[in-house]
Amino acid sequence: MTSPLRIGHGYDIHRLQPGGQLLVGGVVVSETLSAVAHSDGDVAIHALVDAIFGALGAGDIGEHFADTDPKWKNAASDQFLTAAVAEAKAAGYAIANADLTLMAERPKIKPFKAAIRQRLSELCGAPVNLKAGTNEGFDAIGRGEAIAAHAVVLLVKET
Ligand code: MG
Repeated sequence: MTSPLRIGHGYDIHRLQPGGQLLVGGVVVSETLSAVAHSDGDVAIHALVDAIFGALGAGDIGEHFADTDPKWKNAASDQFLTAAVAEAKAAGYAIANADLTLMAERPKIKPFKAAIRQRLSELCGAPVNLKAGTNEGFDAIGRGEAIAAHAVVLLVKET
């Protein structure tokens, strides 16, 4: 890796089910819905982690934290983000900034945006922007059956 700048992109989607708790960006956004997932199913964190691994040229989240590994059953996803940030640091990079787009018809993300931004910025040690939208009634997200996230991250070489 010779460039002082590295860009990465991540995407994740999880099916929603009734009951339990839904975490987005490490924040509880619903007590009546949860994600169908091996870990806690935090789409925002999974997309961010994939963006960081992408920027590092280090594959994807599944290669690092396999969803078949019992170790990660119901795992809190913030540890994946902490590990990805540490891996970037070990490679000599810091996160310059990240930008995230959440797509959900339900639950409504707006009331939690500030808390999610704050938590993700803490975990990344860098500013994280958050945009939230619905899917205008289209497809599985629009029908409220799933929640998705897109993330881009810029890494900068530490001097
Ligand atoms: Mg996921």
